[in-house]
Amino acid sequence: RKFIFVTGGVMSGLGKGITAASTGRLLKNAGFDVTAVKIDPYLNVDAGTMNPFQHGEVYVLKDGGEVDLDLGNYERFLDIDMTFDHNITTGKTYQHVIEKERAGDYLGKTVQIIPHITDDIKRRIREAAKGNDVCIIEVGGTVGDIEGMPYLEALRQFAHEEDDDDILFTHVTLVPYSMNGEQKTKPTQHSVKELRSIGLQPDILVGRSEDKLDIDTREKIALFCDVPTEAVFSNPDVSDIYHVPLMVEEAGLDQYVMEQLDIADEALPPEQR
Ligand code: ADP
Repeated sequence: RKFIFVTGGVMSGLGKGITAASTGRLLKNAGFDVTAVKIDPYLNVDAGTMNPFQHGEVYVLKDGGEVDLDLGNYERFLDIDMTFDHNITTGKTYQHVIEKERAGDYLGKTVQIIPHITDDIKRRIREAAKGNDVCIIEVGGTVGDIEGMPYLEALRQFAHEEDDDDILFTHVTLVPYSMNGEQKTKPTQHSVKELRSIGLQPDILVGRSEDKLDIDTREKIALFCDVPTEAVFSNPDVSDIYHVPLMVEEAGLDQYVMEQLDIADEALPPEQR
């Protein structure tokens, strides 16, 4: 089974969810069974009690699970029905671990973020991925947020436990423009540095910007972030988010992902997708 982790840098609302859902759609078109998990590092157990002005209207799944709107994107892009288990929140994870502690399941051990919370996060990801070829896991928020730390640590352990070609890290960042109209890579460099400081090296970088990234920008990101230039993709503004899968397909994102995960040989030929 393959796992694609999608993190975000610089700021939220960049299109991490759309990038993740688009990657999933292209893999599905190539003949793979794909599912997704959304991690929301907030302390709410679910989105049901949250003010719709803050995160948008609550999205209700078939099993009654009240979740973040992003799950709706995954259901529509991947044409699947998701369940409540596909949304991991800090509230849900802690509630479960604390209930187990009260029941005496930890046999007197000191219950800690590492390993008990991180183990629970990894278990939830593996459970949700069952029965699929590929699972895409989007980590909400931005790298460096205190709330996100246990998740990133769980991902580091997860990558250590799985084979190298079963795991892929995609990092979505902002590429802003300077006053004289140049694309700037510094925010991307800093957020990758932050990721590396916690032991995660991205395999793919997606730069969200007004326009496509110039070749010079992609080369510079590749150099500073230690990835090949072919691993740096653009996610420019489009008029309709349903154009994003086509746009990244044209740039070869699906092919690159499949090669990295060593599943390109099993994919349907392009004319059958
Ligand atoms: P994140 O997961 O990083 O918070 P989302 O994927 O939820 O971000 O996207 C944030 C907003 O930006 C959404 O309203 C989404 O429709 C929009 N968006 C994402 N990608 C693009 C794009 N390439 N062009 C225009 N709007 C986009």
